[in-house]
Amino acid sequence: MRVGVLALQGAFREHLLMLGSLGVDTCKVTKSEHLAGLDALILPGGESTAMVRIAAGTGLFATLREHMAGGLPVFGTCAGLILLADRLSDDSLGGYDRLGGLDVTVARNAYGRQRESFTTPLTVHGLDEPVEGTFIRAPQILELGPDTEVLARHDDVPVLVRQGSIWGASFHPELGTDGRIHAEFLHHLGAAV
Ligand code: GLN
Repeated sequence: MRVGVLALQGAFREHLLMLGSLGVDTCKVTKSEHLAGLDALILPGGESTAMVRIAAGTGLFATLREHMAGGLPVFGTCAGLILLADRLSDDSLGGYDRLGGLDVTVARNAYGRQRESFTTPLTVHGLDEPVEGTFIRAPQILELGPDTEVLARHDDVPVLVRQGSIWGASFHPELGTDGRIHAEFLHHLGAAV
């Protein structure tokens, strides 16, 4: 199993380390060519405005959408969720191309500013013990399409969702040493991690 991590900006190293600790082969994705042969892709947290600007004009997102249409599983965390959301509550990313593919409406920065960052235990579908979710200028999921399944909530608001093999989290499962959410994602793809 080979999993790519979008490495334009943000917390891609943490995802690479987490995947490595699970014994998965990894590679950084910065160009369309890097998508060939991947079994899955992770879109990290960071700053979505920077990511869409860096990707603009490279063709990377258009190629990635083709791979997603062909069944490539993708997991977007925090800014990565913003890239995947079919709808944003405002037009703060301007006319920049995003990916879409996850039938949710997301509000950027809805959990507050950097200094309002917090961690909280989350009960995650399929896991026996809660995970500690870290929220940093996190996006909030406002609406879900009918095919989007909720895997975890915080204060009744969905924070981990999936639509088939497209997963999104408003928090950062790559921070710390708990790899259970990555492992869950990979299990759903049939990986024996
Ligand atoms: N607030 C960031 C954005 O809008 C996301 C924050 C994060 O990824 N921690 O892109």
